[in-house]
Amino acid sequence: FFELSVAPMEGPQSERTMVLTLRDLSEARRVERMRVDFVANASHELRTPLASLLGFVETLQGPARDDAQARVRFLAIMREQAQRMTRLVDDLLSLSRIEQNLHLRPQTPVDMVAILRHIADTLAPMARDNGVVIKLEAPCAVIVRGDRDELLRVVENLVENAIKYGASEPASVNRTVEIMLTEQERQCVLSVRDYGPGIAPEHLPRLTERFYRVDAGQSRAKGGTGLGLAIVKHIVARHRGRLGIESKPGAGATFSVTLPLQAS
Ligand code: ADP
Repeated sequence: FFELSVAPMEGPQSERTMVLTLRDLSEARRVERMRVDFVANASHELRTPLASLLGFVETLQGPARDDAQARVRFLAIMREQAQRMTRLVDDLLSLSRIEQNLHLRPQTPVDMVAILRHIADTLAPMARDNGVVIKLEAPCAVIVRGDRDELLRVVENLVENAIKYGASEPASVNRTVEIMLTEQERQCVLSVRDYGPGIAPEHLPRLTERFYRVDAGQSRAKGGTGLGLAIVKHIVARHRGRLGIESKPGAGATFSVTLPLQAS
């Protein structure tokens, strides 16, 4: 789509010139459509747990008023729904904060190895509960410039996904998640690999879109918001890095992040 506008250019009356401007609107339209879709998706994601919460409140005030067993059961579900809404709102806020500062480059020296160790420890209980083993292979220290909390978030999202959608799936060949960190040509290369069911090629280019999921039911059941990889993509871009996704259906997935090393 193009917008055509005509305007007279200033000059002496005898040499009056007209200026024709052709503006490409397709990009503006695409951005506007994405914004509208995003608001619709976010509202839908919030409405679903809200509707369920309201339903349970009404049941507890009405038919199940004197049913002690139902009360315990329903309150547990209501708590889960409220937690889901909290996760979603937290992710929406993170995303909007990161998007607002997309070009601001965070500047503190951060040791990526310390981040990997921290996440491997934090997620050890989740891995254990799912029968998954986390393997970590890294040198002593690898320093990049960045924002520690944001880089923690990247590693946490990738490792959590590898446990949730990869290693813990019944179709998984092998219940390990391998986290590897190497230095290559002045770059820090992080990879998170699982041997789960993998991702079909048609989904790969869309995985980092906000609210895009291969299987929305599965993601919700596992506590996903559909925003994790969108957040990862933005943080990596802010750090002048690259996110790579490789997968062979039936043979797992590898998510890799390449970041520039801190200049010494
Ligand atoms: P979610 O909150 O749903 O986990 P993400 O943005 O983190 O959202 O991931 C988007 C989708 O990508 C997930 O719903 C899942 O379908 C797919 N996915 C992510 N990581 C993996 C993986 N390691 N193996 C298979 N599928 C994955």
